[in-house]
Amino acid sequence: MLISDIISSAQRAGKVTYAGKSLYGNPVPMIRLGVARPGAVLIAGTVHAREHITGRLLTELASRYSGDYPLDVIPYLNPDGAILATEGITAFALKNAERLRLLRLNGGSTDFSLWKANLRGVDLNVNFDAGWGTGAKNVRVPGGENYIGSYPFSEPETRIVRSLIKSGRYAVAVAYHSKGEEVYWGFGQNNDYRDEAEKIARLLGYKPKQTPDSAGGLKDYWIQETGLPGFTVEVGKDSFPHPYPESELDNLIRTHAGAFGLYAEIAERVWKRTRNTT
Ligand SMILES: [Zn+2]
Repeated sequence: MLISDIISSAQRAGKVTYAGKSLYGNPVPMIRLGVARPGAVLIAGTVHAREHITGRLLTELASRYSGDYPLDVIPYLNPDGAILATEGITAFALKNAERLRLLRLNGGSTDFSLWKANLRGVDLNVNFDAGWGTGAKNVRVPGGENYIGSYPFSEPETRIVRSLIKSGRYAVAVAYHSKGEEVYWGFGQNNDYRDEAEKIARLLGYKPKQTPDSAGGLKDYWIQETGLPGFTVEVGKDSFPHPYPESELDNLIRTHAGAFGLYAEIAERVWKRTRNTT
């Protein structure tokens, strides 16, 4: 896919604003659904490059959403990565040294289909400032996955999410990944919202999984900063390979049919409660 595909699919799904720019300078479209007001749900997909099926899924779910409750959907938080994983390195006008560096980080291969990071070789889901650098799989050298970056929020893509979270207009955040059919909840000492995780898992037919030890992720930072419900949804069966087959998209859409509505319900309840107690 090209950036034009990412933009046009978002525009077909709803009203689009641009949340910011990627490292390469590509726009990061955000589909704004429902009536604009505080207490919205923030949903982000394609945090990892090869998980671009989540971008397709979120775009499709956005185009089907008919509720009033505000949802802000970023189908491709890592557009450069999605383009790299699907089109390869020739999709970018890079200086020779940058091109050679990326190839070296990819073990000399021109096949980037399993790449997870952004265009600098930073894994966005370990670059957030929440237990940064403490994850079991963290690495300290750039590459296709698990590199935490030279400091928290070193990447423009994670800074986009930080500024959205800091805006204070969200009640719930959900990050979409692939795969394993699980709903992750909890971070560090904060283990609230088990019921909500179980409810989401039940709707999807997935397993809820508490993740106190996860580190540097979008949901981790969200929970740390807000104490509000935040989840990572791992879509798709483990029996399929990466990248998750496009032929399974319809099945994923069916599985997730009620998900946006449920996130809205959770957000509405939580937002009312926080307003009443502060
Ligand atoms: Zn992922």
